[in-house]
Amino acid sequence: MRTTPPPVPRIAWAGLSLAGGIVVCLAGLFAGLPGAFAALALAAAPIAILWRRSARRWRARRAALNLPFPEDWRRLLRDWSDHYLRLPDALRARFEDDLRIFLVEKQITGVGVEVTDELRLLVAASAVTLSLGWPEYEWEQLHEILLYPDEFDRDYEFGFDDLAGQAHPWGTIILSVPALRESFRVSDDAYHVGFHEFAHLLDLEQTHFDGIPAGFEETQARRWVEIREREMPRMQRGESLLDEYGAHDPVEFLAVAVEAFFEPARALRRADPEMYELLAAYFQQDPAAWDDARGLTFERPARPHLPRPGVRGGRRRPHFRSTV
Ligand SMILES: [Zn+2]
Repeated sequence: MRTTPPPVPRIAWAGLSLAGGIVVCLAGLFAGLPGAFAALALAAAPIAILWRRSARRWRARRAALNLPFPEDWRRLLRDWSDHYLRLPDALRARFEDDLRIFLVEKQITGVGVEVTDELRLLVAASAVTLSLGWPEYEWEQLHEILLYPDEFDRDYEFGFDDLAGQAHPWGTIILSVPALRESFRVSDDAYHVGFHEFAHLLDLEQTHFDGIPAGFEETQARRWVEIREREMPRMQRGESLLDEYGAHDPVEFLAVAVEAFFEPARALRRADPEMYELLAAYFQQDPAAWDDARGLTFERPARPHLPRPGVRGGRRRPHFRSTV
């Protein structure tokens, strides 16, 4: 089964060109040739600006991809990213390309944090893990990633064991650096603040989250709701592989399901084949099969409800705020 990936912004170009053409035609009809020329000039200006911006972006991409992939980056990915390790060779090469494009185009800002190459790679690897199966996907809805030195509360004060991350509907993602490192360090517990927050952006429709991945067809959305309604009570009873953090909110349900899909993939496939199949079709990736292929001889255990050593206050959950 094939699932349509989230829409790419080429539609915006087509819409802009069409709108410009309509304006020119109307001006020609009502104001004659001089009006049409004036409208043409007005319509052409924003298109020219966008074209220049697009050309600049294309040149930056080409420059980044023309260089060999840095060996120390490859070593960092091998050390940190379990998904990178499980990929077939061809997809691993695409992962490296997507990661470079992401780093060229996306703004990562430290707030009291030095943004090292390692941190930039962990952020990019979080996003690229999700979008690897969609070659044209550009994370257009993402404007900036802010890295915080610690957990934070709802007033953005540090040192409170409350939020490990946030995804805002205007495209800003906040990630706590310790939580991000912890997410990559333990790769089988269905907890990953990076996957979680970027998954929220896949769910973004205009300016709100609705718990249905963008690009789902109607039948797939219906199946997703059925799966969710079946799974949420199990999560509330602590019987699910998915973290109970997503048991009461459709938006959080999607994010924790994505965490489980990309971490203990074989356990999710065994526990809920229908959910696994739907997510595999959506992401156009099959991490459980890749774990089979690399010859893991044990079922990677998920430990979603156990506190983690070294984590203050036990398990900490990422969170998002959907209001402006
Ligand atoms: Zn969330």
